[in-house]
Amino acid sequence: MLKNCENCGGQLHFSPKDKGNVCSSCGSVFPVQYNYSFNKKTFDEHTMDQSTDELANSLRSFKCKSCGANVMLTKFQMQTVCPYCGNTTIVKSKSKNLLYIDSILPFTFGKADALKKFKNTLNKKFYANKKVFKKIDENNVSGIYANAFVFDISTASTYSGVFSYTASYRTRDGKVRTKTYYKDVSGIFDKAYKNITVEANSNIEQEELYSVMPFEYGSAVEFKEDFMYGYMLEYKDKMFNSCVATAETIIKEDIKKQLLNKHGCTKIERLTLNTDYIDRRYNYCLLPIYLITSEAKNKRYKVIMNGQTGKLGKLPKDKVRVFLTILFVCLLIVGGILLYMYFSK
Ligand SMILES: [Zn+2]
Ligand SMILES: [Zn+2]
Repeated sequence: MLKNCENCGGQLHFSPKDKGNVCSSCGSVFPVQYNYSFNKKTFDEHTMDQSTDELANSLRSFKCKSCGANVMLTKFQMQTVCPYCGNTTIVKSKSKNLLYIDSILPFTFGKADALKKFKNTLNKKFYANKKVFKKIDENNVSGIYANAFVFDISTASTYSGVFSYTASYRTRDGKVRTKTYYKDVSGIFDKAYKNITVEANSNIEQEELYSVMPFEYGSAVEFKEDFMYGYMLEYKDKMFNSCVATAETIIKEDIKKQLLNKHGCTKIERLTLNTDYIDRRYNYCLLPIYLITSEAKNKRYKVIMNGQTGKLGKLPKDKVRVFLTILFVCLLIVGGILLYMYFSK
């Protein structure tokens, strides 16, 4: 999003260090008030996919012709680079799908620091592919606010079924055997879930987002456009109800895990699980994400970074190093066997 400076007409960008918007031409700083707030609304208060009026009016949605990603841009932002694939084939699209934004987690460091953090982490990772990121600079870093629903959901479940686990034992003649043990289980299980985060856009996968979690929701502030100058906004293409369903799936999976733990088992043979979701609350929040892209040998690489903590998502692997390690381990094993055979003669 873009805004012009009151003093000179230059372009403003949000600077986490200055806690305000800085003009890139005259250097003026316009402080932004941080109003800390992360109250969650009940589902009844849910304003059915209604948008923040002012924001919706100043935004238009665009689609990348190359990778299909959607982004939101302001009226004044004429052309830009797709943050997901780096191509410049961004065309205007009709769809607009913005919901009332409750809160925002502002970026805590700028692009230059993001690049520094990225390079530092990359250098420490032995198996990461360093070659493809050799020539990157600040232009390879883009900041984007991801859309997410953050849920608090209390659950009460009743369950019955059969769980199992396997254990090994030694027979009288010294042989090791494994056996599966079955357990009839039933009971009640209550758990309150906090801050279940569901990505409301399909450009960044849920799993990808989880790879840079957690976010510190304690420093969430009331949504204000001022935090967004110089940053892009992800396009929200998932409906509230489908995000609720995703949250419930995440919760159900966790309940199953908790139940297995509770009964000391490792596998579910049969299970009837009835879960009531009580006191469901949510907050529609913008999360700070840096995308680091690079192109090498006609292939595009993208790594995501948590714009609040600097945590990096999955890095592309250096296949040669991975291969050499596997080869080395194999040689060690073969060497070990040969030595054993030699000495046990
Ligand atoms: Zn200025
Ligand atoms: Zn693209």
